[in-house]
Amino acid sequence: MFRVFTAFLFISVVYAKHEIYDGASVYEVQVENEAQSKVVSTLEEQLGLDIWSRPGPSRSGMVLVPKNSKEEFAYKLRLAGIKFQTTVDNVKEQLEIEDRLLAAASDKISYDRSNKAALPLNRVYRWQEVENHMVQLAQTYPDKVTLVNGGPTYEGRPVNYLRVSTTNFQDLSKPVVFIMSLLHSREWITQAATLYALDQLLVNNTESDLINDIDWIIMPTANPDGYIFSHDSDRFWRKNRKYGRRCMGVDLNRNYDINWGTESSDSPCYEDYHGTEPFSEPESVVTKKILEEHQDRIQLFLDIHSYGSYVLYGYGNGELPPNGEALSSVGVLIGDAIDAAKLTNNPNYTVGNLAQTLYPASGGSQDYALSVGVPYSYCLELPAFRGSSSITGFLVDPEFIEQAGYETWEGIKAGARYALNNYRMRKEI
Ligand SMILES: [Zn+2]
Repeated sequence: MFRVFTAFLFISVVYAKHEIYDGASVYEVQVENEAQSKVVSTLEEQLGLDIWSRPGPSRSGMVLVPKNSKEEFAYKLRLAGIKFQTTVDNVKEQLEIEDRLLAAASDKISYDRSNKAALPLNRVYRWQEVENHMVQLAQTYPDKVTLVNGGPTYEGRPVNYLRVSTTNFQDLSKPVVFIMSLLHSREWITQAATLYALDQLLVNNTESDLINDIDWIIMPTANPDGYIFSHDSDRFWRKNRKYGRRCMGVDLNRNYDINWGTESSDSPCYEDYHGTEPFSEPESVVTKKILEEHQDRIQLFLDIHSYGSYVLYGYGNGELPPNGEALSSVGVLIGDAIDAAKLTNNPNYTVGNLAQTLYPASGGSQDYALSVGVPYSYCLELPAFRGSSSITGFLVDPEFIEQAGYETWEGIKAGARYALNNYRMRKEI
């Protein structure tokens, strides 16, 4: 009886998880001018919208609308002459499809069980699984890997990362490449990029220059509290879990001390809430410390996000840094390398300044890295699914996970090798 009861309880918890999205819809929204995009933005708090991608005159946006706001949303958009159409009728159903697909992928055995450090690269891992994997890598490759605790999150979990180096970070003539994923917790596909990179550097390394000539910092879960919450409670949780009386969480990618608060929200209920002051959040402080500690050597910083197919660089207010041209050409190098490896159904990567390509945003990690002297600093936006897939937005199609890791790694390699050569040339001068 007890077993039956616990099984029932488990099932109810699983199903209750997506209850908040029952009847919620996602709409593709097309605006013709700035005034119309403003209408959508003003409805954000009023109607509890979750703007997955912001509509602008040159591209359509995707907006999740809660069940109870759908009628008013449709009315207000029609009134303003804004075109929209339904992409997902019931978000809860899509979430259940994703759960089923991911569970089926986890049941598949597709890896070498004799090597504990080899992880199947075709699934999404929970936070604790990734932590265990990092410990395993550090134990299996003690001469190349150091596990570092970067500091506690708001809820007290460690933000762990790996240093990968054949010289224990002691050879200062080597450049450092820093890659992180899951700063925005709902962007699950981004984990594939960091786990794939670790696999290619350590477990299946066929390109020795990458590990011999470059030191790597790889942080798979930059926002552990948010990531756990996105699995357990709200699949579309983006921020950290900072307590707020009305609304929880700070957008970590608006919390860095660079043009802070100029292109972000000061309302805790918004997805891009920047916090009470620059670096108010422990998770953004972790990456700040890494950037400062290796300031002279970090040549390439990649903060991996989703979704879209973009290589974006600062500054997020539209101003270009002094090395803007080089930043653009290395961005193209990265984008081209991904395009050469990507699935034909997915669009080519677009490379550009964040504000000019997508929208203005301040206090972002890629801007902060630039401001402390990292020459090549980017935010990558990865597609989360195959172009042919029935699921959309942030939802992950397991058939795409390994491909996402692979194609992104092609881009990372291109950027890392460029950064390496450039660093050597600078040293010689
Ligand atoms: Zn993001």
